[in-house]
Amino acid sequence: MKIKCEVINDLLPLYVDDVLSKESRELVEEHIGECESCKKTFENMSGKVSIPVSPELRMDDTKHLKGLKKIITRYKGLAILFGVIAVIGIMVSTVLIMCQIEYDIPYDGSNVTLERREAGYYIVYHGKGAILYTASGDVEGSELYISFRQTAFDRIIWPLYHNNEDTMWFCEAGKITKLSTNDGKIIWEANAEEMKEHEQWLLAHQNKG
Ligand SMILES: [Zn+2]
Repeated sequence: MKIKCEVINDLLPLYVDDVLSKESRELVEEHIGECESCKKTFENMSGKVSIPVSPELRMDDTKHLKGLKKIITRYKGLAILFGVIAVIGIMVSTVLIMCQIEYDIPYDGSNVTLERREAGYYIVYHGKGAILYTASGDVEGSELYISFRQTAFDRIIWPLYHNNEDTMWFCEAGKITKLSTNDGKIIWEANAEEMKEHEQWLLAHQNKG
């Protein structure tokens, strides 16, 4: 079906303004691809000297655009995925770094205590966060020297989900008689009753050995 040039001339201003429906646009393009007169009118109107009016060329352009759209859509998904991975990576690295940074916690006479609970002794830290300790023994392991430290994670993150003091199992009852800091401050010493308990502990362990 041939469309009259009059109709195309009516449509051309709308075509130039790019407000036509897909069907009308295609009609106009098809027509000016074949009609020299309307093509000239269009060129004058749009100020373009030459335009790709071949329907095949147009089809190719559309295909390229669709392909580009697909690529953009695909990379948008990838970008979000990489974003999520990056955020998780940063969080994990932050935690790992925070676990590497360590502060010494000096014993001030009350911030750390050794407490008897049930069958054994526990280290209780009364300051903020959690602590780690390193203990070394003397007198066959009954007198211990201890030092405390705290990672940045223990200091900053741990208190976010623990309201209570940090309590750690230390050793079984009767095993030790004295706990001091590395620089000689006494944290805990066995009383007479606990010394008896220690004698019994030694006997029990000698019999076993
Ligand atoms: Zn025409």
